[in-house]
Amino acid sequence: MSLKKLRQLRRQAFEKQNHLCYYCKLPMWEQDQQQFARGQGVPARLVKYGRCTAEHLVARKDGGRDLPENIVAACLWCNASRHRGRQHCAPDPTAYKTRVSQLVGQGIWHPVIASKLARALT
Ligand SMILES: [Zn+2]
Repeated sequence: MSLKKLRQLRRQAFEKQNHLCYYCKLPMWEQDQQQFARGQGVPARLVKYGRCTAEHLVARKDGGRDLPENIVAACLWCNASRHRGRQHCAPDPTAYKTRVSQLVGQGIWHPVIASKLARALT
């Protein structure tokens, strides 16, 4: 597998998902983080979390391939959070997606949401 191929798959998924994260459904950026920050009103320190990453639904170590049906676009925050502290037992993507939706609904998932809420309240 080449990095170029994976980048291509990531871009495809990014377009297919209308630039929204597979898990939290927040907008992501792929190349132009400044435009994203301006357009979304995201503070500079949080912009990195909105970066589009390629997420393998079935992990490579479990035999997941670099194929369009196995790659989704997820923001860095969701992707990193899924794997944080559990290299060998990341939650199943479907279960994780459900969990993330719940937390998003409660407004306590993403630092970008938290910052928008904070601003809405002031
Ligand atoms: Zn996300």
